[in-house]
Amino acid sequence: MIKVPFNKSKITGSEIKYIREAIKHNELSGDGKFSKKCKYFFNQKYNFKNSFLTTSCTDAIEMIAIALDLKKNDEIIIPSFAFVSCANAFETHGAKVIFADSEKNYPNISVSSVLKKISKNTKAIFAIHYAGVACNILELIKICKQKNIILIEDCAHSIDSFYNDKFLGLFGDFSVFSFHETKNITSGEGGLLVVNNSKFIKKMNSIYHKGTNRSDFNQNLVSKYQWVSHGSSFLMSEINSAFLYGQLTNLEKIQKIRIKYFDLYLNKLKVLNTLNFKYIPEKFFDIKSNAHIFYIQCRTNSERNELLNYLNSSGINAVFHYLPLHLSKYYKKKYGQVDKLLYAEKFSKCIIRLPLHANLTKKSADYVIKKVLSFFKINITK
Ligand SMILES: *Cc1c(COP(=O)(O)O)cnc(C)c1O
Repeated sequence: MIKVPFNKSKITGSEIKYIREAIKHNELSGDGKFSKKCKYFFNQKYNFKNSFLTTSCTDAIEMIAIALDLKKNDEIIIPSFAFVSCANAFETHGAKVIFADSEKNYPNISVSSVLKKISKNTKAIFAIHYAGVACNILELIKICKQKNIILIEDCAHSIDSFYNDKFLGLFGDFSVFSFHETKNITSGEGGLLVVNNSKFIKKMNSIYHKGTNRSDFNQNLVSKYQWVSHGSSFLMSEINSAFLYGQLTNLEKIQKIRIKYFDLYLNKLKVLNTLNFKYIPEKFFDIKSNAHIFYIQCRTNSERNELLNYLNSSGINAVFHYLPLHLSKYYKKKYGQVDKLLYAEKFSKCIIRLPLHANLTKKSADYVIKKVLSFFKINITK
């Protein structure tokens, strides 16, 4: 039996080379040579002009929560089908999270659900580009402009993805990226905050530097730095930045492999959509994917669980996620009875993610495809 892990980070050799260089350079805390190289890369390639390398994407979201100076009645609208950190950061920093549903046919946040949840207290809308597929970002921008609401893009899935030729991460007031080992490129743990709204840059600088004006000091604008605002310790260390830089210099190579296997899955599994159900999301055929996630949507929760068991017992580590946040223990305890969010609940019950990473081989991917097709009793010789 072939064993196919769900994820295995592609280590290119450059990571250790740059870590050695960082050690030799004798500057191991944050904001050093390799952090600057990474930021330069992001600026050159994606036009992210003001970015902060952080200890995680979760921390990048917390920085935004601090910058928004949240009050008790402030509301942040978030898709329920999301990672815990997306909501937790805002609750931790004193605001109220309001959950929106997903679109009918895709896990991204539904604009019509957002419109129903907006109130005079809405401070921000937090949108995820699920699996690197852009959410309805232009509609969200329109709503946010009209009502003076902050827009945050969660790009944890969407490095190297774009919409209308513009990179994701450039649309909102803020965007956040993750370099957790399960993402397309990694630094072990790590994240990036991009600040597109220039009104927040000065404030973000002091939040990033533990509540001080150290960034002014670094630029020789003041002779001493001191405590000026809220903040914490968010800097990515040079060891991690060196690792990340090794990954960035191989980004194209890593992406090419991931996309090759994404396209192979798509090509061989699209036959499932002839079974009178859209097992493969239609959006996957419409876009040039960044190959972060390949998922199949089953008809029912029991079909999904059967497929999951079948693949797992064949040595294939397929997984599911997320548990809808509006049904979580924390949220129910705090807010009591919650609205039903039909599609968020459906995606949580019916999605299954196939192994997708740059260490897949043709043999392992073919094996995954063969097992999925055999579960659905599709004759693979045709
Ligand atoms: C992974 C992920 C995060 C959190 O990233 P960390 O770097 O692990 O903190 C946030 N949002 C989404 C959508 C994610 O997938």
